[in-house]
Amino acid sequence: MTVDNLKNIFQEYGIAGAGGAGFPSYAKLNEKADTIILNCAECEPLLKVHREVLKNYTYEIMCGLTMLSEAMGNAKCIIAIKPSYKTTVQAVKDQLSAFPNIEIKYLPEIYPAGDEVVTIYEATGRIVPPGSIPISVGCIVYNVETVLNIYRAVSENAPVTHKYVTLTGEVNKTVTLCVPIGTSFSTLIKLAGGATIDDYEIINGGPMTGTIATTSDVVTKTTNALIILPKNHPVVVSKQAKISIGVKRIMASCCQCRSCTELCSRNLLGHPIEPHEIMRAMSSGKVSKPQAIINAAYCSGCGICELYACPQGLHPRTIIAELKAALRQNKVQLPKIEEAPTANPKRDYKLVSKHRLTSRLGLAKYNKAARLDKTDVVADSVKIMFSQHLGAPATPVVKKGDIVSCGQKIAVAETDALSLNIHSSISGKVIQICDQYAVIKGGTTK
Ligand code: SF4
Ligand code: SF4
Repeated sequence: MTVDNLKNIFQEYGIAGAGGAGFPSYAKLNEKADTIILNCAECEPLLKVHREVLKNYTYEIMCGLTMLSEAMGNAKCIIAIKPSYKTTVQAVKDQLSAFPNIEIKYLPEIYPAGDEVVTIYEATGRIVPPGSIPISVGCIVYNVETVLNIYRAVSENAPVTHKYVTLTGEVNKTVTLCVPIGTSFSTLIKLAGGATIDDYEIINGGPMTGTIATTSDVVTKTTNALIILPKNHPVVVSKQAKISIGVKRIMASCCQCRSCTELCSRNLLGHPIEPHEIMRAMSSGKVSKPQAIINAAYCSGCGICELYACPQGLHPRTIIAELKAALRQNKVQLPKIEEAPTANPKRDYKLVSKHRLTSRLGLAKYNKAARLDKTDVVADSVKIMFSQHLGAPATPVVKKGDIVSCGQKIAVAETDALSLNIHSSISGKVIQICDQYAVIKGGTTK
């Protein structure tokens, strides 16, 4: 199969990165790649979905990697995983002899080992230049569930209709489930045996990069986990911080200790982001180093500066995110960085242990196994969003009253744009439709 064949299949069957921003997977394919990395870092505390999926579908995922490798002239495949995921590592080792093009690389037990710039460095020693993408160093990175979706699309003509999600925190049963896309978060919480407390907030995603959600929000192609936490939990409180108050707090208490910069995951790989310089400009009202502000564009949003490094409990990441948005809005051109970055020679001593991070965030008591329950989840109704990932939304091709079957295309990708088809995740009747979503009532996934 050629790269162009794969691109068509990925777009037809709606494959986006199963987590994070959800970059449409076809746009990552490139004949120039010499290395394909399966990212099983799963570095945020409490997230378990990828190790569970890889453990349960090892053969399929390794076949998916091989399909990618063959399309790219037998590019080398690396499964990047932490040694502590013992049963998953063993499942991979059991299959390895049948896949000569695949090798295992162990990642350190750090956060953010799953940031693809960090994953590539740890797996290959290569550093993606600031503002560049992995292919600039010959790499393509896909996460575990994305490669499972690739395998199913290529070998079974199966579109993306379901999503693996871990339910954790204040729930009666910590578990990983495979649910129809469009299932409401309230249904997911019920499937986890309900919440153990009345007064809770939902974090959609990991504690470091996730966002506050509501029970009426629904599963999309990028939903990896729901973490149910008390409303007054420090992780929740931090995510609710208001930028206007954050700026005032920086003016009052940033002591310029540099801890945010010393531990910044991108700065440690030689990228020119220095959060303390940005905080200095904010607190003094003087921009003596305009370049430091522009360098906000190189922030990955990992949150180390904000949730781990800052001794004053300030919010550098939140401020930097605002600056990044303003730079994008104003189409500020980033200067080309010619020199290849080099890692900080003291990086090894500054890495953030995931174990320590979990304790520091007050999450250690929730750190339980989240085994994959393969029981078919039936949703009475689903609300399927037409924009579930980076890029342009799909355009609906069904109308109210139509009867649709699971896997049927209900919205088509925008032509000449980064976009993907969207499919129904259950069989049933379209009872509501608009430009943003369709609500389908039915109940079977067949
Ligand atoms: S969030 Fe903070 S620590 Fe992470 S890359 Fe951005 S500035 Fe660095
Ligand atoms: S770690 Fe906190 S106090 Fe120290 S320089 Fe950064 S923002 Fe200021």
